[in-house]
This record gives sequence, structure tokens and C-alpha cells, in this order.
Amino acid sequence: MDSAQYISKSTENFDVLTHRSSSIERYSTILSMVLSGSPLREILHSLVLSIEAQKIGTKASVLLISNDKKRLLNGAAPSLPEEYNQAIHGVEIGPEVGSCGAAAATGKRIIVEDIETHPNWAAYKELPLKAGLKACWSEPIIDSHGEVLGTFAMYYDTKKSPSDLDLELIQEAAKLGSLAIERSQALHLQRLTSRIFSKLPMGLVITTDTHSLLQVNPMFKTITRDFTADKSVFEPEVFFEKSDEKSLVSMLKNLTRGKTWQGELIGYKRNGQTFDAEVTVTTFRDYHGEQNCFSWLITDISEHKSANKLIHYQANNDALTSLANRRCFLDKIYDYVWQHERTKQQNIACSVLLMDIDNFKLINDSLGNENGDGLLKEVADRLTLIAPRNSLLARMAGDEFGLFIPGQITVQELISIAKQINLSVAELVVIEGLHIHPTMSIGISRYPEDSTIVESLINFASQAMYDVKLKGRNSYQFFNKAMQKNAERTAYLQMELSKAINDEAFELYFQPIVSIHSSKIEKAEVLLRWQLNGEFISPEEFIPIAEQSGLIIPIGKWIRQQALAIITERWQQGHPIALAVNVSTCEFLTDDLQKQFICFFEDFIRDQAMSDFPFDLLTLEITESLMMEQHQNVETLLNQLRHWGIKISVDDFGTGYSSLSYLVNFPVDQIKIDKAFIQKIEQGPRHKALVEAIASMSNALELSVTAEGVETQAQLDFVKNNHVDAIQGYFFYRPMPKQAFYDLLASQ
Ligand code: C2E
Ligand code: CA
Ligand code: CA
Repeated sequence: MDSAQYISKSTENFDVLTHRSSSIERYSTILSMVLSGSPLREILHSLVLSIEAQKIGTKASVLLISNDKKRLLNGAAPSLPEEYNQAIHGVEIGPEVGSCGAAAATGKRIIVEDIETHPNWAAYKELPLKAGLKACWSEPIIDSHGEVLGTFAMYYDTKKSPSDLDLELIQEAAKLGSLAIERSQALHLQRLTSRIFSKLPMGLVITTDTHSLLQVNPMFKTITRDFTADKSVFEPEVFFEKSDEKSLVSMLKNLTRGKTWQGELIGYKRNGQTFDAEVTVTTFRDYHGEQNCFSWLITDISEHKSANKLIHYQANNDALTSLANRRCFLDKIYDYVWQHERTKQQNIACSVLLMDIDNFKLINDSLGNENGDGLLKEVADRLTLIAPRNSLLARMAGDEFGLFIPGQITVQELISIAKQINLSVAELVVIEGLHIHPTMSIGISRYPEDSTIVESLINFASQAMYDVKLKGRNSYQFFNKAMQKNAERTAYLQMELSKAINDEAFELYFQPIVSIHSSKIEKAEVLLRWQLNGEFISPEEFIPIAEQSGLIIPIGKWIRQQALAIITERWQQGHPIALAVNVSTCEFLTDDLQKQFICFFEDFIRDQAMSDFPFDLLTLEITESLMMEQHQNVETLLNQLRHWGIKISVDDFGTGYSSLSYLVNFPVDQIKIDKAFIQKIEQGPRHKALVEAIASMSNALELSVTAEGVETQAQLDFVKNNHVDAIQGYFFYRPMPKQAFYDLLASQ
């Protein structure tokens, strides 16, 4: 070996030696910075400077890959011109983008000895050349999972290729870079996690699978008043022991199977109080401790639950009596039936009782609302004492109560319950010194005998209850098929009635009323006729349905329109005819309806544009029940009608609550003695005396009297001698269609 060779060899050895020692020094510096938690920028800066010091003439840089892994961002490059760094910042990576862009994209080292000629730099070379950079070697920084974290580059101001040592150096730098970046990312995550842990708005407890406490976050301490303060374990069986058993068992079972469980439990606080907890428990493997751990996420939902409970209570209970309300009652029946049907249980049975206090409106009106409420509470209390165990008692609405009895029960038992209710409710109630014996009408329906549809069951009980009301109240009644038939027919007729006006299915018949002296027709009663499928339906059947459904309002209006049109027509032709039109009490029930009634005539008067319309040709037949309605308003209304000249007649006189006093006070013109009295005349002197009395009293009050339903000569003879002014009845004429009536008038 010559001396020159020796020198070169020994310089090389020397280089290798210094390289090794400074490498160790670099490792220890960077590691101590990493371990002491120095900011990443500082560590990278120090790394760059150390490499630059190791190989004089090097300008090193670290670029970091962006979160989206598509671009490179400045990490540390203190010796490169600022202008250059700025231009590089954010450059997109790619297999042919300079040295670093390509190293990051390919994960391979890229050595560019001459930037000027290298194809990777063709598009960008202006930048480095301007900064005096001619060569650039770049090493990808790769983490422990093989992911590219960035690049470490070494630049030179002359064209240069790396020696073996240079390559070792750049590799080492990239490794240190990787260590620093990875570690700082982990630290960052750890800090974030611990912040989340302490700021988490839910309680979080981490335990080992033997329930040793590993971590408890501050929120858990707040929720439980630091339940675990003096404990080293968190035993779910103890902490949640107050929970619903089913939930607790399900949770523990899932725990042993290592499954995640979520649900509601009841947890303890340190002072022994409890809270409603929403719990999610997850099992995970802790590789550090080589064991299974549990994380308990616990939220206090007590407030939420108690608000829900209140809302639930209010939604399902009646505020006055605290009984269940209608909705809760129906839900319970639906649930019961549904659950039994779903599980295909045979012998499913239940009964529904609907109960309504008789004449409650009257009692309420005379006692005042507050005392009425008192009575409802008293009745509720009495019913509660009788209601069988497992049954559900509810206040359905107003004065209506419901009793749902699930399960088999005999008819005899049901009768016994109903009788007890009737007896108990009828016991004396004293309210404000007033003695009341309230009574109750009870309708009963049964599943499955009457129906297996809940709605029908309720409906049927209600039909049976109304049947009791019709038959005199204060009793009970089981639903039967005849009621159903009636109800179906009523529903059918009501539906057909609603179409009848538009279908022109109505017709007016006319029954002449004759003068007692001359037997001449002096007016006619207008009677409504309705044909359905070619058959006449009796007004006795359809008028009550029209009244109940409110359809009487448009129907009544239609009848008056027709009657006024006939009066107008005949009057203008010089053959005037007087008509009596029936008006239902329902047509005056509310203030609004009364207004509508008056408006009808006001509109008529305005449209007619005749000031002298002969309103005296129109009689309105009202019934006694109207006079029992709110006195003042009805009186004003009748006065207004009479002011126009319309006559008011009291129909069916004697059948209602006939109080003679209102005949004195009420503005009426005539009465019609009900046909029931006329037809009993021949039955004996008492009936005769009654007709006599009505007629003479009416005469005394200067009311004209019509006898209705005169069918025989004997009846006619009797009324003739008893101050009756006019006669209506089959003896003279039956109701007839309009043309027949006109022909009859023409023949006279
Ligand atoms: P109402 O107002 O008492 O009508 C008299 C009823 O007695 C009519 O029955 C008439 O046909 C019947 N009648 C008349 N003379 C005799 C007789 O000598 N013997 C017998 N047995 N009956 C006689 P209709 O037409 O069946 O009407 C029954 C009820 O229907 C009426 O009783 C009335 O309350 C109601 N109604 C009829 N048309 C109307 C109407 O247009 N509007 C209203 N609101 N109700 C009406
Ligand atoms: Ca009548
Ligand atoms: Ca009548």
C-alpha cells in the first residue's frame, strides 16, 4: 500500500469512525428530545442541523405528508432559501415530481445528481436552479406500518452523487425523522384522548375483567358523587343492584360473553341514593396488560326519565279523578287483545263496561261546575272500590266511565258487578246541603262473544248503555244483536240521508187542515217524505237520525225554502195558500243556529224585494221542548218571527213536560192537540176531560186550537163541541203529493 493509498484509506476509516460516533450522538439527542416531549418542529429542525453539520455543504429538508396524503408540507429546512421553501410547500406528490414528490409517491429513495437534466425536475427545475441548488437526494420517511410520513432530502449546489456513507446518513436521518413524527403523533393522540376522557359529558369507567378500577373520569365522579372514591373495584352486580332484574341479568350475561351491551339500569350514588343510568359497556383487549377490560359509559338520565314519567302520567290519566283516561283505557284493551292474539293464546276473553251518570248535565247545571266535579270524584271513588283486581277503571269523558276486565268472567259475575255499581252509585251524596241520589246507566260488551274487534267492543258497550238510557236509566244492559242491527240501520240511513238533498230524494207532502165550521181547507201541514230505493222511510224513523247527526239543519232550510216558494207562487197567482212547516228543536240549539235561522228569513226578505210579503201564510210548528230551552233567546227569536207576521204553533201539545205557564209567557199563536189524545177520546170520560181542558184553557189564552189525528165521526163530533178551531186528520184528508193537493184546491 503506498502512502497516498494509505492516507485515503485512513481518511475513509476516520470518516466512518466520526460518522459512527456522531450518529450515536444524534440518536441520543433526538431520542431525548422525543422523550421529553419537545415539539415536532424543534426536533426536526435539530435533526436537519445535525445532518448538515455532519456533511458540510449539505442543505437538508424535511417535508411532511398532508393529512389527505396527497401533498407535501414544510417540516424543517432552515438552510434552504425561504422563497424556495414557500414554493415547495403544498406540492402534490407524484412518481415524477422532483426528488421528494417522487420519493413520497413511490416510497423509494430518489437520487437526482443533476437537477438540470433529470426528467423528474423538467417541469420544476427553474425553482432550485434559481436558488443555486443543483443536486437533490431524497429518502422517504416511513413509519413502523410502512406508511409514508414525509421525506428527508439533501441538496447541494454542485452536481453530486452520494457515497455509501452519504446513503447511510440519509437513511439514518429518515429513520430518526420517522421516530420523531410517529412518536409526536402518538403523544398528540394520547393528549387528545386524555382530554376527551376528562371532558366527556358522560361517566366513563375502565375496569379489568376482575372489576379492578383502571380509570374513572371526572363526569362519573360528578354523577355518582364519587361513588368509587374509596374503592379499588367497580362491581356491576353491586353498583347496579337496584336495576330491573331482567336488564341486570341480560347485561351480566353479555359481559361474560365479552359482548357489548346497551340499556337502562339504576346506579348508586355515594350517599346511597340512586339514579337512572343509560349504560353502554364494551369489552376490549388490553395488549399491554394482556387481559380483557371493560369500558362503562354511563349517562344520568334521571331528569329526562322523571320528565317522561310526568308526561306519561299526564297523557294517560284524568286530572280530576286520577283515573286512567280514555286513551290509556283503549291502549290497555288493544295491548291485551294484541298480546294474546300474537302469542296465539286460546281462551282469550275480556269485558268492557261503559257507565254514564244519568242526567249529569242537569245536576251539573243546578249544582255548579265545582260541585259537579265533586260528584264525579265521589262516583270515581265508589267505582274504584268495586272494580275487580286487575281491572282498569277509567274516566272516558265528562260523566262517562269505563271498566275493562281482562280474562274469563261469567255473565253472573258481570251482572253482580253491574248491580253493585248501580247500588253503590245511587247511595246518597250530600253536596252543599243538597241531597242527591245519582244513578248510572251501564252498557256491557264481551270479547269474543260480541266482537273480537276492540273498536266494536267499545261501540257495543256504548250502544247497550244508550239502550239503558232509552229504557229509563239506572240499570245495566248487555249488548245484543238487535242493538247492532238498529245501529247498523241508523248508520246506513244517516249515510243515505246526507246525500238525499242533492239526489232530490226528498219530496214534500201536504195534509190539508180544515176549518171546523165550514170544513173548507184553510191551510196545509207540510210533511217531509223520503224515498230510498223506491220505498218510503217513515219520518218517525229518519227525522230523529237527521236530528242526531245535524243533517236536520240543511234539510230544515230546504223545506222552508220550498214552502216559501209555494206560498210566493200561489200568492202571486192570486190563489194564496197557508202552510204549516215543522221545525225541529235542534234547529235552535245554539246561538249560532238561532242566528242562522233569523238570517234565513232576512235573506229571503231582501231577495224578494217585496215589503208586503204575506208572512201570515206561514206557520212554524215548534214543540214544547223548544220552550224549555234557554228562555230568553228563544223568546226573542219567536218575537222576531211573529213581528214579520209568521205564526207560531205548539205541536204535539200535551205530550211533553206541558207546563201551562210557558203558554202564558211564550209568544205563540196556536196549539195543536196531539193525536194521541184525540184518538183516546172514545176510550172514556177522563180522556175527553183532558181534551176539553186543553181546548178551553187555550181559548182563554186566546190561542187558536187545532185537533190533529181526527179519524172518526165520533172524534170530529166531540172536538166540534169543544172550542176547537181547525181539524187535521184522515177523516178529511191524508197527506198527499203537491199536484194532488193543487188539484184538490182547484176543485174547491
Ligand atoms: P207531526 O208534526 O205531529 O205530524 C203529524 C203526523 O201525523 C204526520 O205523520 C201525519 O201524517 C200524521 N197524521 C195526520 N193525521 C193523522 C190521522 O188522522 N191519523 C194518524 N194515525 N196519523 C195522522 P208523518 O208525516 O209520518 O210525520 C211524523 C212526524 O215526523 C211529524 O209529526 C213530525 O214530528 C216529523 N216530521 C214530518 N215532516 C217533518 C218536517 O218537515 N220537518 C220536521 N222537523 N219534522 C217532520
Ligand atoms: Ca206537525
Ligand atoms: Ca203533531
